[in-house]
Amino acid sequence: MRFLKKIDELNVTKNRHFMHIMVFVLCCALCAAMLPLAPSTQAAEEPCTAVFKNGEFLFAVSTQQAAKNVLDRYCGDFLGTDPQFDGQVTIEDVQAKKHMILSEDEAYALLKDGDFLSVITVAYKTVEETVAYTEEELRDDTLYAGDRVILCEGRNGLQSKEVHTFYKNGILQESRVQAMELVKPAVHQVVRVGTKPRPSDIGTGEMATPCAGRFESPFGARWGRQHKGVDISNATDTPIYAADNGRVIYAGFMSGFGQLIQVDHNNGLVTYYAHLNTMHVSVGDVVEKGQHIGGMGATGNVTGTHLHFEVRQNGVAVDPLSYVGF
Ligand SMILES: [Zn+2]
Repeated sequence: MRFLKKIDELNVTKNRHFMHIMVFVLCCALCAAMLPLAPSTQAAEEPCTAVFKNGEFLFAVSTQQAAKNVLDRYCGDFLGTDPQFDGQVTIEDVQAKKHMILSEDEAYALLKDGDFLSVITVAYKTVEETVAYTEEELRDDTLYAGDRVILCEGRNGLQSKEVHTFYKNGILQESRVQAMELVKPAVHQVVRVGTKPRPSDIGTGEMATPCAGRFESPFGARWGRQHKGVDISNATDTPIYAADNGRVIYAGFMSGFGQLIQVDHNNGLVTYYAHLNTMHVSVGDVVEKGQHIGGMGATGNVTGTHLHFEVRQNGVAVDPLSYVGF
């Protein structure tokens, strides 16, 4: 008895004008069937089946089976499952004049042409969708502002939704999420976010000693050549510090210098840190005065582990001792 079902949530759209005519016709038919009438009128009536929506007459056919066939055929025109009418449809055996009784085709055509009986259908589908991970930021004053270090990498999760889509005479009305299931939970991301102000890449003009060690060789004439820096010896990987704020303009191997870092202090001065065993910075990095940029080594043209430190003023090597003490 699915035709007796009713969907309350959806509004009924009626062709009121048509309905009024049909009600009038029905009244005539029923009155003729039920009231005592002249023998000539009674003779023209015969038993049949009438279909009503919310008590209002829609059409009459010869049998209950015919009525069900018409309604089934009409429902079958619309995609989706679980067809239901937009009102309470009832089937009753009545008496009516012969010309009121339609064939199945006529009754079907009547329903198709009018919009007074709507069919609600439902499409069911399961949709999988991504659940975006959330992120927690831990402020860290040992990192520069703008720098981020991921402590725990986030991963998206997955959820499955059961969606019911409702159609009225084949026209989409609404979609509803009926059920939701978490297939795979998202993994929360945790990130350290720097708050330390970034250093300026402009030197202060006052240099700090780039490393600890023994002063081996001064600036100036040596072995008939000009020694363009000073040499400080110590153990391998003794920390080498930037002498002042600046920006790294070279970090790599250079003939004679071995592994070399050059820092431009953007005040006319550039410092060189040569023969390094390790380098902790790259070209473009802004370094802070005193920042650990590498480790002492014996790369390039050397006789032992030491730092060759140069200061160049507008491109010309000057005595580093004018700027730093060892
Ligand atoms: Zn040297």
